[in-house]
Amino acid sequence: MDCRFRSRWWMSLLAAAILGAPLACPLSAQEAEFVPPLTPNAFHERECARLRQIIEELQTRPLLSTQADYDAVYYDLTLDVRNFAASTIYGSAVILVRSLADDLDELILDLCSALSVDSVIGVGPRPFTLSNNLLTIALDRAYLTGELVQVTVYYHGQPCSSSLFTTFTFFTRQAPFRQVPTIYTLSEPYGARDWWPCKNVPGDKADSVRISIIVADTLTATSNGRLESVTAIPPSSRRFTWVEHYPIASYLVSIAVTDYAHYTNWYVTQSGDSVPIEHYPYPELLTAARVSWNTLPAMMTVNAQLFGEYPFASEKYGHTMWSFPWTAMEHQCNTSYYAGMTDGHHTYDAIVQHELAHQWWGDDVTLASWPDIWLNEGFASYAEALWVEHLNGFAGYRNYLFASGGLRVTDPSGPVYNPTVLFDGNTVYNKGGWILHMLRGVLRDDSLFFAGLREYRARHAYGNATTEEFLSDVSSVAGYDVSPYLHAYLYRTNRPVFDVSFGGAWLNGAWQTVVRIRQSQINPDTTFCTRLDLRFQSGAGTLRVRVENRQRHERYYLPLPFLPAQVAVDPDDWVLKQVFFESLPLTVLTSALREGREGEIYADTLTAIGGSGDSLAWNLLSEDVPGLNLSAEGVLAGTPLTDGDFALTVRVENEIGGADTLNLNLHVLSPLPAPCCLTACWLRDEGVIALRWAAAADADSYRVFRARRFDMLDMEVLLVTADTVAFDSIPSSPTNPDSLEVRFYQVTATNDEGP
Ligand SMILES: [Zn+2]
Repeated sequence: MDCRFRSRWWMSLLAAAILGAPLACPLSAQEAEFVPPLTPNAFHERECARLRQIIEELQTRPLLSTQADYDAVYYDLTLDVRNFAASTIYGSAVILVRSLADDLDELILDLCSALSVDSVIGVGPRPFTLSNNLLTIALDRAYLTGELVQVTVYYHGQPCSSSLFTTFTFFTRQAPFRQVPTIYTLSEPYGARDWWPCKNVPGDKADSVRISIIVADTLTATSNGRLESVTAIPPSSRRFTWVEHYPIASYLVSIAVTDYAHYTNWYVTQSGDSVPIEHYPYPELLTAARVSWNTLPAMMTVNAQLFGEYPFASEKYGHTMWSFPWTAMEHQCNTSYYAGMTDGHHTYDAIVQHELAHQWWGDDVTLASWPDIWLNEGFASYAEALWVEHLNGFAGYRNYLFASGGLRVTDPSGPVYNPTVLFDGNTVYNKGGWILHMLRGVLRDDSLFFAGLREYRARHAYGNATTEEFLSDVSSVAGYDVSPYLHAYLYRTNRPVFDVSFGGAWLNGAWQTVVRIRQSQINPDTTFCTRLDLRFQSGAGTLRVRVENRQRHERYYLPLPFLPAQVAVDPDDWVLKQVFFESLPLTVLTSALREGREGEIYADTLTAIGGSGDSLAWNLLSEDVPGLNLSAEGVLAGTPLTDGDFALTVRVENEIGGADTLNLNLHVLSPLPAPCCLTACWLRDEGVIALRWAAAADADSYRVFRARRFDMLDMEVLLVTADTVAFDSIPSSPTNPDSLEVRFYQVTATNDEGP
């Protein structure tokens, strides 16, 4: 469903709200052209109220335990709506259910108590009661698990309105030359029981439904599925019979009646089949509809490419016009669409795409229960952005996420799942749409993202799904659990507020940068988990780094090739967030300690930046490393007495109260083994002897001595170069072997005093 107002054009028409005259007295299509519609605030409030109603219903009416005892299989509904003057319907409903228990001896259906049930026929006439909007039918015996039970309910009366809005509308349309009776239904979420007996929960779809509508022969009746027959009922009536062969939830069953015009467009599936797009506009808006609705074949093609084939391809898609102000509703195969949004232009393409996308997300894969409503509305809203992306590329898509007529989240306070506080379309539609955008940003691989959506759809096709099932299905495609990135947005309030600071310095021969991110959203018990791009800029260039942000306080040590002058957080807006910058507080910049070796002299100097104090004092908060001390100036020095890994907690303070504490790891190597593996080779052409180590890293650890006497009494220290090779010049020409001098070499560990 979509009753958000999106058009900027419309914003110029703001005028007095007409909230006081809502749907009980609907606007006619003609009036809607000229009477100022609801103001955005009034519209917003109305939508809020409707959605709050869903929540209230949830709290007061969980699935009856007795309704869990059976599975709805089939409804064959006949409605005679010819008594327009009295706004009365005469109905019969053949209801087929399958017992899910071994003692099903009564059948409890939802039906508005204000309707009159004339009789119930099962195996013979069945006793029944109708009270508290429940029709309880005594069956002829207890039915066993798996057995089918069929009853027929005959009833009549004025349909009810258990929701805030009229479920079943009778009104007279002001066509140009005559008054035209017009009828339409809107059952989401709990309105189906207002006009037909059913198991009124979204989680139990009937396998199929037949809907027959008896009308005056000047009128046309539309419904879900395919038109099976139009039968004349002399002298002046006719019966339209529609059959929905696909599984369908009760809230998606609809009828509409008036003097409809009719035309057909075609959509060609990916396998080349033609699917009719049956449109039923008011005759006075036929020309406008032909323009406003002509994008549907292209939209269906794009959606099929992204989400998989159109789910009801063996039947149809199409629009039936109604006068429900500023509202459209995704009735299965047969979207109901407001006359006032059929302007002969493409002002409302987003709505056209929204309702079409619901055929995949809502009608094919239906929410398991109403708290999951974002699985319907967030998906359909996000599909609007995908259509814009198809037309205008990724830049257009991104703009749509922030557009006031698009998915802009003006109030992020509500949780997307089962909102209970201030719940509005902004939360379920727009923030719900952002859930998918953020998922796309987590994956950062479009083929994976759309494969995840298609996998989710495939696992729940023509059925129902929960929020957790969606997350699980996408995770199975991604290869890891994506739910941590979305849980806080779905189940908690607000969005993260990032307070960001950064700085850096030249440290141990390289630039070291530190970025600190503090989550400061007002809800202290909520931590968001996000993947953030950090874009660093300096005169030397630009560099992007992606980090995981999982804690309220996090810091990132980054060995960038330059000292950044600026950092942008999530510059492509993959994450719903707010970002503020603050100056870097006193921060330990040393993120890694130099390696030590047992028994060898060690020294490393800790560095801190940020804050405004000058004189720093360092402390070691953890236990000492045997043989090492941390001075107040930040020098960690001594001779480690044992090898191993040591967890150090260092703290630095300045004189004005700034402080920082950081955990560091010190790795102390075990003592070097005896020297070995030194090879000498004579490089004839260069006149040198090269001493090579078997392992390059060993070079610094040893000293080399040279002597001409075997007893080494004339030995001298030989320079060992960093590249592990000691060159020892040979003074005489090596071309004459007799002139060679004999050399002796001795190698000791660096920390030895030598022989
Ligand atoms: Zn919708």
